[in-house]
Amino acid sequence: MEPVRRILHGHEEAAVSKLVRALEEQNQDLEHYARCYLRYVASSIEQHVRQSSANALGPYRERVRSLAFNIARNRQLQGALCRREIGAPELCAMSAAELAPDEERARRQLAAREQMRRATRNEWADAPRTRRHPCPRCGSSEDVAYEHVHGARDNRKAETWGGGSANEHSESAIRFGCQSCGCDWTAETSQLL
Ligand SMILES: [Zn+2]
Repeated sequence: MEPVRRILHGHEEAAVSKLVRALEEQNQDLEHYARCYLRYVASSIEQHVRQSSANALGPYRERVRSLAFNIARNRQLQGALCRREIGAPELCAMSAAELAPDEERARRQLAAREQMRRATRNEWADAPRTRRHPCPRCGSSEDVAYEHVHGARDNRKAETWGGGSANEHSESAIRFGCQSCGCDWTAETSQLL
């Protein structure tokens, strides 16, 4: 069997060129980098991919293609590689989700939402729960906390609901907090009767 290493050798130059183009693509700091420096960065990536692909041509080409594609469209990743903040080993250890700029943003949003959800969770930790008032946002009634809010008089609503007893009720409201999605909302007590 012919050594795979020799087959790969012909592809190294193409891979390095592809990675250099990816590092250059729309790079706003391009003037700061000599082409031989970018070739050096690209070579170190190529070398690492070659080693981690165990010299198998298919995975090697696929990995180079995927990395070049993501480096070219992910400005943060591109900048970090050019500044050597991320080395080839770190780059090669990154998942597809970590490489893609859109996914990156989505992940950060998700983390922020989760953090908000946890903060809300703490606020409602000791509050009683109800299953009778599903969340208007996610529809879940699995874990809806509530608290009575007093003195939340709303004249407009008092008029809407009218009548002496309704006015009394309108002075208190119930605030709900959905623990599933973090949504909270308030409803007049009179509305709930
Ligand atoms: Zn919800």
